Amino acid sequence: MIVMQDIYKTYANGVTALNGINVNIDQGEFVYVVGPSGAGKSTFIKLIFQEVKPTKGSIMVNDKDLTTLKSKHIPFLRRDIGVVYQDFKLLPKFTVYENIAFALEVLEESPRNIRRRVMEVLDQVGLKNKARFIPDELSGGEQQRVSIARAIVNHPKLLIADEPTGNLDPETSWEIMRVLESINATGTTILMATHSKEIVNTIKKRVIAIEDGLIVRDEHRGEYGYEI
Ligand code: ADP
Repeated sequence: MIVMQDIYKTYANGVTALNGINVNIDQGEFVYVVGPSGAGKSTFIKLIFQEVKPTKGSIMVNDKDLTTLKSKHIPFLRRDIGVVYQDFKLLPKFTVYENIAFALEVLEESPRNIRRRVMEVLDQVGLKNKARFIPDELSGGEQQRVSIARAIVNHPKLLIADEPTGNLDPETSWEIMRVLESINATGTTILMATHSKEIVNTIKKRVIAIEDGLIVRDEHRGEYGYEI
């Protein structure tokens, strides 16, 4: 599902964030991306949905070659990828329902189908009864569940989560992990950047460690491997 070959990324200011990345990720995998701050994790993740373009190397996502993908096709690529951020990024003046419905590709859908799909994903994240609330009326964990619902409403093949538990207390973080695991169980590939030693060492998955722009470790059911 994701193949990177010899990826280098140097930003305009001359900082080299990635230094020759080679990786293969299959459909249905759950992968943690770990490593110190500034190691290149965000750059690695942003390459996958084309928020960042590589300086050198090739990337295939969902059988599409991103190095030759025309800008006008980027929206189609992004339709197959859901993204969840540490700070939720919900629209504050809109309800939970609206936040999710806006993300739906509504072109040919009837209002009834939109409603059915939004309620379906709200049920999946355990928030059916909060559809009419606005983000401020929800706890951090609930807001993150809304942002996950929004990310999966179009049935993406890949869900990218950039430190999804970074702003949450430990108990809420476990809830979010259960939601992510249930989504993974439906066949969605999950790539999650995290600094949580507890999560990585408890819910065992593939671990890719990045340091100084290089993959220094790639282990099946790996460990977090850092003290913080
Ligand atoms: P991580 O997510 O592991 O903290 P990043 O990928 O954010 O690492 O950053 C890797 C390196 O690239 C850092 O030195 C960072 O300062 C630099 N960097 C990240 N984004 C940019 C940018 N847009 N412009 C210039 N340098 C950047």
